[in-house]
Amino acid sequence: MNDSTPSPASAQPLHATPPAHMPLVLIIEDEEPIRRFLRATLEANHYRVKEAGTAREGTLLAMTTYPDVILLDLGLPDGDGLNVTRAIRKEARTPIVVLSARGQESDKVAALDAGADDYLTKPFGVGELLARLRVALRHVTAATSRGPAGIAEVPPYECTADGRTLRVDLAARLVFVTDQATGPESPGRREVRLTPMEFKLLAFLVKHAGKVLTHQMILKEVWGPQHASDVQYLRVYAGELRKKLEVDPAQPRFVITEPGVGYRLAEGAMPPGHGLAPR
Ligand code: CA
Repeated sequence: MNDSTPSPASAQPLHATPPAHMPLVLIIEDEEPIRRFLRATLEANHYRVKEAGTAREGTLLAMTTYPDVILLDLGLPDGDGLNVTRAIRKEARTPIVVLSARGQESDKVAALDAGADDYLTKPFGVGELLARLRVALRHVTAATSRGPAGIAEVPPYECTADGRTLRVDLAARLVFVTDQATGPESPGRREVRLTPMEFKLLAFLVKHAGKVLTHQMILKEVWGPQHASDVQYLRVYAGELRKKLEVDPAQPRFVITEPGVGYRLAEGAMPPGHGLAPR
């Protein structure tokens, strides 16, 4: 997780060949060493980069340079990232990944509820940064190519951790776990039976796989706006889901807790035929 301190030395390219379209990342961050680390890492991984050191400049560049994704520091000298998020959201759906310091949980949640898409807690590693960007860009591609996603249009989700593969086919309403430990002769695949509410919760997580979802977002969507603050409901159902899906519900690998914020379903693999091909 937070295993590496930002340093350009760790900026190894992860792709062998550049993708056809090089996404533009706007960095809004006042600390120059972090900006430098981000630029070096992103350029080494075939992103284009624009930088701003203040809220004002950042908001302006967000509106005028049409970035594909924005990395936004929460603490800026002339204002906070929350106001920048609100200003950008009035104009554009550009994905925003918030950069926050430890202990800013309530700020992070406020930014996410105001329309930011995800967050990274400093210090973060290169792998984490690239994963967040990949997920943010994938969701924007999905949203523009499919419109508001109906369950039937979400591709099957598949993720392997701790020797177990979780597969969720929302269209068919089927959930399977396969344990590799049992050997290829008896692959140990079994269907998981979920209650309607558990399925609804899992479906929302699958639609946003890899992305953090705040308690409030999940409660509003799954239980309805009147239950937006009933975090206890969510804890109970998340616990039930884990009992059915995880190898060790106490060490969840699929339904991951984001402390003080909400939940994130592990990113999973893109099934064949559902790549990031630009339209
Ligand atoms: Ca700052």
